[in-house]
Amino acid sequence: MPEPRVQFTISFTEPHAHYVDVEMDVTDFDEKMLDISMPVWTPGSYLIREYERHVELVEAFSETDRIACEKISKNTWRIQAPANKTKISYRVYGFEVSVRTNMILADRAFINPAATFMYIKGRIDIDCTVKINLPEKWSHISTGLPRIAQNRHVFYAKNFDILYDSPLELGNQDIWHFHAAGVAHEFAMVGGGNYDKQQLSSDITKIVEEETKIWGENPNTQYVFITHNYQTGGGGLEHLNSTVLGASRNAYQIPSAYKNFLCLVAHEYFHLWNVKRLRPKELGPFDYDKENYTTGLWIMEGFTSYYDNLIIRRCGFFSIPEYLDMLVNDFNQVYNRPGYRIQSAALASYDAWIKHYRPDENSANTSISYYNKGAMLAVALDVHILSETQGTKRLDNVLRSAYQTFYKKENRGFEEKEFQTLAEAVTGTNLSEIFDAAHRTEELDYNKYFNRVGYQLVDLNHNKQELSLGIKIAIQEGRIILKNVERGSGAWDAGLNVDDELIAINGNRLDAAGKELEFILQHGQVDEIIDILVSRDGLIRTIHAPLRRSTKQQWVIQQKPDATPFQKRMGEIWLSAEI
Ligand SMILES: [Zn+2]
Repeated sequence: MPEPRVQFTISFTEPHAHYVDVEMDVTDFDEKMLDISMPVWTPGSYLIREYERHVELVEAFSETDRIACEKISKNTWRIQAPANKTKISYRVYGFEVSVRTNMILADRAFINPAATFMYIKGRIDIDCTVKINLPEKWSHISTGLPRIAQNRHVFYAKNFDILYDSPLELGNQDIWHFHAAGVAHEFAMVGGGNYDKQQLSSDITKIVEEETKIWGENPNTQYVFITHNYQTGGGGLEHLNSTVLGASRNAYQIPSAYKNFLCLVAHEYFHLWNVKRLRPKELGPFDYDKENYTTGLWIMEGFTSYYDNLIIRRCGFFSIPEYLDMLVNDFNQVYNRPGYRIQSAALASYDAWIKHYRPDENSANTSISYYNKGAMLAVALDVHILSETQGTKRLDNVLRSAYQTFYKKENRGFEEKEFQTLAEAVTGTNLSEIFDAAHRTEELDYNKYFNRVGYQLVDLNHNKQELSLGIKIAIQEGRIILKNVERGSGAWDAGLNVDDELIAINGNRLDAAGKELEFILQHGQVDEIIDILVSRDGLIRTIHAPLRRSTKQQWVIQQKPDATPFQKRMGEIWLSAEI
């Protein structure tokens, strides 16, 4: 029985109106019904995005006639009697700025394949080709998909997982190339900017080489960086042999912003191993119809977040104090969200679909980021392994071995328990305390770990007597509007609500800058009750709220004054710029 063959052709008849026209030619399909579906999400970004809502005019044709095509679910169309050659045509609207949505403009297009190309139900495994009819004035195509020989506008995908993992940038982007770790790299810059190509090539070469050293090999032959520059931009999305990055076009010459961009590069590049190849079993092959739940994002995103800064340190771009400032930010992010007492790193991973990607006014009280918490657990693992093995092994060894075992040898996703077993076997250490902590809300004693490499975590606010109401406010049209109420605070207990307008405190009208509130906090007493006049949906009421000690934490990582020579030596290895 022949395999069905799928050939896509995309054209742009109205790019200025943000449309891409798609033709899907299906041949050698010999079943009675042909169901085709649009993915509802894109791997790496764990939210149901309903890409099918931008699809219109789905029609099917045999070589001679139109044939019946009926919509049977939100993202699936059924062709009742497909011909040996069936052509399906549809249009997709794309006008959303992000690394995971289509953006089609008069002079360029960013195409996310998961938001553009439909798949035959149950046949993610078959290969396909994509032909691109570029508008006349567009000259470049940047993508990780290989070109079919002799035709630079036709591309090949071995299966639909690879197709959906290969974004396309079309237009007149600024392109240059460099080689690093034996891999041909293409850099495609969109939207202008004050970047220095040589500097970027040389700095990113170092990042590529450092990361390749960790993993032991670089599995790609080519890799594409697609960077979208905006007035203010950020964020990225990882792919098998490419990445899409957001950046601020005029920030490349600001040293701190430039280093942040390098961290983003290091982060997304690290993913070509960690998540795209070494992955929990739930993350591939994917179901494009619904959520793919995993507790493992604390390893995938958390470890990657730990390494993105560390790589920049290893390359020598961060000094040790700069690096420690970046690392401690993870602790401050987590400990200044009451949600860390509610949600574990594993649960934060599992609920990414309904929480991390869908924040609301109560999110800080109920959730943490698996990026931050995963990075905290990663540093605990790294320094623990270093110290236990007298500096001969570290988390690098675990990753390299997991990549070799689960991806290279067995070519499958791992169960978290297997990952822990392998980590313990590779390092000869017991890591259960840290792996268990990923599933609990009770905190690890992180100082126990930092002390082993001669460092300590210190909360500079520990003895401060500052008072707080536990609210965050914003000034909107000259009014003070409550944006967030911290769990357990005086405002929480007294029943202040998000969206309340604060009008007066203790009979004094609040000025628009909120200075009166600051004055009361500076001069009040613990447990003093203050009367707050609020407008809630236009009705005035008075709330009696107690002042409490501020729970704001300000952690720093310092050298431990009484560190032993062994601990100091371990610390030097941990933060060495010459691995
Ligand atoms: Zn990531």
